[in-house]
Amino acid sequence: MAQLSLRDEAVEVLQGLIRADTVNPPGNETLAAELLRGYLEDAGLECELYARIPERANLVARIPGRGDGPTLLLLSHTDTVLADPQEWSVDPWSGELTDEHVWGRGALDMKSQVAASAVAMATLAREGFEPAGDVIFAATADEEVGEDFGLSWLCREHPDAVRADYCVNEGGGDRVQVNGRTIYLCSTAEKMSSPFLLHVHGRSGHASMPGIADNALVKAAHLIAKLGAMRPKPRLLPETEAFFRALGEVPDPEELPERLAALEPPIRAMVEPMLSLMVSPTIIEASKRRNVIPGRCEVDCDCRLLPGQTQEEAEQELRACLGEGDYELEWVEAVGGTSSPLGTPLWDAIESFVREEDEGATLSPVVLAGFTDSHFMREAFGTVSYGFFPMRTMSSELAARLIHSADERIAVQDLELGTRFLLHVVRTLEG
Ligand SMILES: [Zn+2]
Repeated sequence: MAQLSLRDEAVEVLQGLIRADTVNPPGNETLAAELLRGYLEDAGLECELYARIPERANLVARIPGRGDGPTLLLLSHTDTVLADPQEWSVDPWSGELTDEHVWGRGALDMKSQVAASAVAMATLAREGFEPAGDVIFAATADEEVGEDFGLSWLCREHPDAVRADYCVNEGGGDRVQVNGRTIYLCSTAEKMSSPFLLHVHGRSGHASMPGIADNALVKAAHLIAKLGAMRPKPRLLPETEAFFRALGEVPDPEELPERLAALEPPIRAMVEPMLSLMVSPTIIEASKRRNVIPGRCEVDCDCRLLPGQTQEEAEQELRACLGEGDYELEWVEAVGGTSSPLGTPLWDAIESFVREEDEGATLSPVVLAGFTDSHFMREAFGTVSYGFFPMRTMSSELAARLIHSADERIAVQDLELGTRFLLHVVRTLEG
């Protein structure tokens, strides 16, 4: 009975959150914050709203600890990406419950984890649970765009509200099967976003007589083709070693390309970015006139480095791939690239849940190709922050296709699993 109500409660909170349109931009996350405040205050929790501008509030709630344990933060974001109703088979803000799934924008990324965290907090508060250290719930704004209304702003302007030793966030929990083994993925590190510009030089001229000019666009095309074919040297990090150990054995670095090729395509697509820098040319700018041969061309490249890898090291690899030429390489920024250690008490708490829940399953770390708010926690407070929200009923391939896409939905079973997971982590770490 108790579990049935946990499930219904999580569904109800999630439906309410989906019906609050928090598409970012503009965000309007205060809608979600107020909704959560009403729900949590009913359960006896004190809530605080922190907002740089009134429409974009972050909600923080806390169960005070006895003072003899670590602080644990359940972190999630309330904003979503946009949705085009024409692409959907239901209204993206309906929160419809059909076929044992809750449908709507944010159902996976990540109002489900917001709802599960809120329900876990309310459950603990109603039970009168007294944790060893503080348990904090933060539902933050502006993760999807990142214009400093959310966690980055909180860490800087209200650090006492969110400072924590441990943090559970988004970014993992996929259940994959490789070589007959069942593995749950926990993201413990993230790659660094390190985009660069290639400035390619030539000489402009009339397009009717290409011989008198030196076409920078054509030169850029050769460089782009080289970047497209680039196979950066793979290297093993502690996370990837542990990942391969979970699959059976850790290969020699020389064997990595071979081992990678042997994996099934969806797993390979996920593992490949964990082994090296990745580069994708995405924007190009040259002449504005069809009859003018461009004397210069700019290629914008998305580039992600491994945690710990420097731009200097990456530049050597990139220049070795591009060779000599009339170009300059300019780094635009360096954001993220942080990691948390493995084998911590939080790791053990997650692992024990996986073992109890799914016989024979193991937990493996992964390096996320993308960026999450875990970065700000690691950077500001040295927090051990992992991405984990288990998913068992829906396949990770389907979930990956639905995130930021049409017909996003979550299986009610997975929503309940995630809620029980968060309760398990709090009770194990703070009991
Ligand atoms: Zn997200």
